[in-house]
Amino acid sequence: MSNPWDDLEPETPRVDPLSTEPPAALRPPKGPGAVAVFARGMTRRCPRCGSGNLFRSWFRIRERCPRCGLRLEREEGGFLGAMTINYVVTAGVWVALLVVWLVVDLPDLHVAALTIASLAIAGLFPLLFWPFSKTIWASVDYLIYRTSPDYGSREAANHASGNGGRP
Ligand SMILES: [Zn+2]
Repeated sequence: MSNPWDDLEPETPRVDPLSTEPPAALRPPKGPGAVAVFARGMTRRCPRCGSGNLFRSWFRIRERCPRCGLRLEREEGGFLGAMTINYVVTAGVWVALLVVWLVVDLPDLHVAALTIASLAIAGLFPLLFWPFSKTIWASVDYLIYRTSPDYGSREAANHASGNGGRP
């Protein structure tokens, strides 16, 4: 029986004793480059195969990629990284707003309006950015997990997300 991993990576790298090629562990990993992986994460697509449709709703990510089976969410807490990304990006957006606001509004600063705009960003942006933070974190996790020697196995895929592929 074939499974979705078969055409992505060989289960065990074949070693040819006469080959002059360096062993598999010394070669860069196959698959998409880090830039492509992050580009997929930033557009809410699977870091491994680029498939979309990873979300049941805006806030609920599927457990696995529907195309390649990459595990996207392992357990509660496994996405602490996604929350951190969300927080950092939200803070960055707010600082950008603050800088632009000060440049435009000084010297007569509209404190009440700035406060309302700040609260709106703090309240709404994390909700809008939430699914993106999830797939960006899945990209980070995938880049770590695919360096694992048993990359491609179902076990490694099960351990992916949240702990870098280690049990
Ligand atoms: Zn996939």
